[in-house]
Amino acid sequence: MHGGHSGEFCEHATGTLREILDAAAEAGFHAFGVSEHAPRPEPRFLYESERAKGYSVERLEREFEAYAEASEKLQEEFRGRLTILRGFEAEVVPSSNYSRTMRTIRRRHRFDYTVGSVHHVAEISIDESPELYRRAVDTCGGLQPFMERYYRLVSDMIEALCPEIVGHLDLPKLHAPAGAELATPRIRRAAEEAVEAARNRNCILDLNTAAWRKGLPEPYPAPWLVRLASEAGVPFCFGDDSHCAEQVGFGIERARRYLLANGVKSVTCLEKHGRALARREIPLAP
Ligand SMILES: [Zn+2]
Ligand SMILES: [Zn+2]
Repeated sequence: MHGGHSGEFCEHATGTLREILDAAAEAGFHAFGVSEHAPRPEPRFLYESERAKGYSVERLEREFEAYAEASEKLQEEFRGRLTILRGFEAEVVPSSNYSRTMRTIRRRHRFDYTVGSVHHVAEISIDESPELYRRAVDTCGGLQPFMERYYRLVSDMIEALCPEIVGHLDLPKLHAPAGAELATPRIRRAAEEAVEAARNRNCILDLNTAAWRKGLPEPYPAPWLVRLASEAGVPFCFGDDSHCAEQVGFGIERARRYLLANGVKSVTCLEKHGRALARREIPLAP
């Protein structure tokens, strides 16, 4: 449910959306959700790599419009071969008005679903580079307050957007210093509140395999968070967070075993019945 970023509409992805969907159909998926990044609405939120290529906010917006149109056409074209769910990955910047902007995007383009992700803390990008990550940590006054603030942002985002899917719940571990304690009692409390918010808003958590391909020993989220969510009754779905055709389905089998090992016995997928969104629980075979 979280993937399908393509080089056509995202500067840090490669290949076309059609190539990604062909790969999904060939890999045997019956349904595949695409969730291109929402455009970041101010120049200060452009990534360094985008700046280097002369990107502007206008270009991000133009490419996102093109994604919304292309995904609608491809949804039609692939009918019978692959069910495509059209989504987008929301941002929480700027903090003063992202909620309205993201909800407008959802409505305007008639997306099937939203992946709610937090990629910024104190409005600083946390997954773009270790340097910016450190700046975000320092701005918060250290790793523990940074982590607490991150999970509070997740809770706020869930309340503000009610996303069907919550993306990569413990993203901050990507650039965390080796051996850092990311589950102190205070951090756990903030994470528990985020999971509680997910439960109250009926969200599905993204078991996101991108962490493996980025060299981490575990996917998002960590085993303790998977167990916490599972005990709270919050369901999971798979996300490959694919940014090219080769990454489609990456690590899904390993993710299935990982979920089972951490007490999760099924995944929940989104489906469309006519225009209505439905959920289907699919048991994970032992
Ligand atoms: Zn991306
Ligand atoms: Zn993301």
